[in-house]
Amino acid sequence: MQPVLRVSRPEEYFIEEEPYYEPVGNEIAVFEAAYRNGLPVLLKGPTGCGKTRFMEHMAWRLKRALITVSCHDDLTASDLVGRFLVKGGETIWVDGPLARAVRAGGICYLDEIVEARKDTTVVIHPLADDRRVLPMEKVGELLEASTDFCLTISYNPGYQSVLKDLKQSTRQRFVALEFNYPEAGLEQRIVEKETGVDPEQARRLVKFAHMTRNLKGQGLDEGASTRLLVHAAKLIVSGVAPVTACRSAIAQPLTDDADMLSAVYELSASLFLIGQIRSGTLGKQVGAALLKRDAEKPGNKA
Ligand code: ADP
Repeated sequence: MQPVLRVSRPEEYFIEEEPYYEPVGNEIAVFEAAYRNGLPVLLKGPTGCGKTRFMEHMAWRLKRALITVSCHDDLTASDLVGRFLVKGGETIWVDGPLARAVRAGGICYLDEIVEARKDTTVVIHPLADDRRVLPMEKVGELLEASTDFCLTISYNPGYQSVLKDLKQSTRQRFVALEFNYPEAGLEQRIVEKETGVDPEQARRLVKFAHMTRNLKGQGLDEGASTRLLVHAAKLIVSGVAPVTACRSAIAQPLTDDADMLSAVYELSASLFLIGQIRSGTLGKQVGAALLKRDAEKPGNKA
C-alpha cells in the first residue's frame, strides 16, 4: 500500500504573545541577519541562561513557528525526520519535528544537540550548509528547505567530554552566539520582571548566585543559573522565607554533597538573615538564634 504523507499543522507552534527577553548584547541583530541569509545558528552557553527564551522571542519576532526538540542519548535521526506507523491496518508516514519545521518554513531548535545519537549529524549537515535539504531516506525524498526555515542548535561547552563534543565538521557550519549569565544589574531586572519580587531581594539573589558561581570547579559543577534565581524568587513571592527558598530552589538542585550544601546554605544565610537583622526586619536575638539553630541542624554542619 502506498504510504500517505501526513503533514502536521505548524500553526500550533506559533507564539502569539511577545516572550519577555532582555537582550544581553547584539544577539537579536546577529540572529536576524543569519536568518535572512539562510545560515544556521549555534547557541553556546550554560544551562538556564536564556537560550530557550531567546529562541521563543526570535520565533515571535520573525513570526515563524518554533519547533523545539530536547535532545537525549536515545534520540535518533528517525526521531527527527519521521517514521512509518501502522494505524488501523494502514501504514502511514508521520513527519518528525525536523521535517515538520522544514516543510512549514519554521525554526527548528535542537536543544543540547551533542546528547543526540551520532546518526543525527547525517540529517543535520545537508540542512546546515548551502544545500539546505533534508534527506528522508525511508520515503526516498529529498526535502528542500524554504527560505523561511532556520536550523538552530544549542550546546553547553562546560558539559562536554571528549566523547560528547561538537565535531568541527558540525560546528563550522553554524553562526555561533555565545550566551552567559547576564551582568548583575540586568540579571536583577530579569528576576524582578519574571517574578515581581522586590528589588532588594532580587539584588541579594543575584549576589548569592555570584557566590555560587565562584564555587564552580571547587565543589560545584555549575553555579546557580538565572533559571534557579527565578525559581527562588517565585518561592519568596509566594511567602517562602528567602533562606528556605535558596535552599530548595538553588542549593539542593545544584548539589547532593552534604558539605557543599552546608557551605552554600551558609552563604545564603549570611546574605539574607544578616541582611534582615541589619535592616531591623528581624530582631538581632531572633536572627542569632535562627543562625545558631540552622548551623546545628544535621546536614548543615561543615
Ligand atoms: P536555557 O535555555 O539557556 O537553559 P532558559 O532560556 O530556559 O535557559 O532560561 C531560564 C529562565 O531564565 C527563563 O525562563 C527566564 O525566566 C530567565 N531568563 C534568562 N535569561 C533571560 C533574558 N535574557 N531575558 C529574560 N529572561 C531570561
